[in-house]
Amino acid sequence: MSIRRLRSNPKTLGDVNKVTEELRNLYYKRLLPIEKYYSFHHFHSPCYEDADFDNKPMVLVMGQYSTGKTTFIRYLIEQEFPGSRVGPEPTTDNFTALMYGRAERIIPGNALTVDPKMPFRNVDPFGNTFLNRFQCVQIPNKVLENISIIDTPGILTAAKRRLSRGYDFPAVLRWFAERVDRIILLFDAHKLEFSDELTRAFGALCGHEDKLRVVLNKADRVDSQQLMRVYGALMWSLGKVFRTPEVMRVYIGSFWSEPRQTCDHYQLIEREEEDLLSDIRNLPRNAALRKLNDLVKRARLVRAHAHIISYLKEEMPAIFCRESKKHNLIYQLPVIFTKIQQQQRVPAGDFPDCTKMQEKLLGQDFSKFKTLKPNLMASLDKLLTSDIANLMPLLHQHDLERKPLPGVLDGDFLGTFRPEHFKRDPFKELPRDDENNKADFDEWPVEKFKPKYDEIFYNLSPIEGKLSGTKVREWMMTTLLPNSVLSHVWRLSDVDNDGMLDNEEFAVAVHLIEGKLEGHWLPRELPSHLVPPSKRIRTASNEE
Ligand code: MG
Ligand code: CA
Repeated sequence: MSIRRLRSNPKTLGDVNKVTEELRNLYYKRLLPIEKYYSFHHFHSPCYEDADFDNKPMVLVMGQYSTGKTTFIRYLIEQEFPGSRVGPEPTTDNFTALMYGRAERIIPGNALTVDPKMPFRNVDPFGNTFLNRFQCVQIPNKVLENISIIDTPGILTAAKRRLSRGYDFPAVLRWFAERVDRIILLFDAHKLEFSDELTRAFGALCGHEDKLRVVLNKADRVDSQQLMRVYGALMWSLGKVFRTPEVMRVYIGSFWSEPRQTCDHYQLIEREEEDLLSDIRNLPRNAALRKLNDLVKRARLVRAHAHIISYLKEEMPAIFCRESKKHNLIYQLPVIFTKIQQQQRVPAGDFPDCTKMQEKLLGQDFSKFKTLKPNLMASLDKLLTSDIANLMPLLHQHDLERKPLPGVLDGDFLGTFRPEHFKRDPFKELPRDDENNKADFDEWPVEKFKPKYDEIFYNLSPIEGKLSGTKVREWMMTTLLPNSVLSHVWRLSDVDNDGMLDNEEFAVAVHLIEGKLEGHWLPRELPSHLVPPSKRIRTASNEE
């Protein structure tokens, strides 16, 4: 089965959309009326809008300065993007939402908050300073057809902490953390550091640890011993901040454009990167489940909230001593919570944070609260007991049958080979890095296709047996692959680095391009068995 086909399987795409569509209907029909009736939006979070359901899965990329956030994103989408600026200067650093668009354009923050099709309608309370630092970049990019990516400003290191941002940075992070499907937190293996702002940023992520994936980036720049130390230090620091029962998943990687340095944990990096990429690739498949989970979480909070508000209403005297009774009730809130849990059989975990609730209640007129409305509560119970349960089989079905849901990023990364996809692939006939196979050099998997490749080569009229970069480039452009991919192919195939391709190098280039067009992954470095036989000795000695 071709990997490319997974990308646009209309039937399975329809199933995912059906679940999302049904969740939206249930929200408007069952939940929203209760939220409005009991002023839920004032106490907890703004109401969902269409964009919250239609939204593609979002990935939030965060980390300290120069941990490689922007470079990581470029790696994911295989292209430069407008407004991407790589550098350490804090003042020019923006929140950038990268989204799919048929034409390239940049939408400034202020315009984003008024666009009903965008999932950023309620960021305006963060103020103008923030909105000036927020933009959406739309580009026609394959990867972005299935996910959106949020690039964030670098978190300040200890030395730079005096610079003020002019807006509540952790609050903005929290807003995004609540809405995204995945949070990628990057650390630099080369210089691990925990600043004040980083610790505050962690606070913003609390409660969303399940979305978090930590990446120890640039791991090829340290030796194995250093890597072990840094990994240990990172796990220890994370353990102090996030008190989650499960151990946090930390990936070792080297996501950046520079060629990877040879190191003894090279293979570990490749496997780890592949794990992380497949996690991201599965986001669209899991997005419906994530939305369902969030809706259930919300519905349970709404139920607890309705009981709290109606309880307070019942307790209020009709005329006298309203103000003192109100303060008394706020003071008593922890006890009231327990009472409701027992009387109404609402689990303690569904209740909001008591202190925050007390603060919010201070400014409220309790006499305007509503009493319990049985038909609204019955509708909510139906949502939790049967409506949502009816949707579950549809989602489980996907898991059981392992239907090829529309994956993203298949073959779109400059990633590594994926062994399972290369079983019938000439690339994989000789496993690399296997000492026993190093002697077995007489086989060149490209050989059997070479006549076909030679035909193209000689048609491009090589001079003295070689094609110049310009000529190869012209031909390569006809494949319509992104420039970043083509330049990567060029780098891999110009084995002797003379800026020209001879017939063997050109064969490697076409072979890689063919593999890429079939949806395979480009290797980061040319595997030794793909190196043309005439150039092998040099490369082998380079590797030592
Ligand atoms: Mg950046
Ligand atoms: Ca060459």
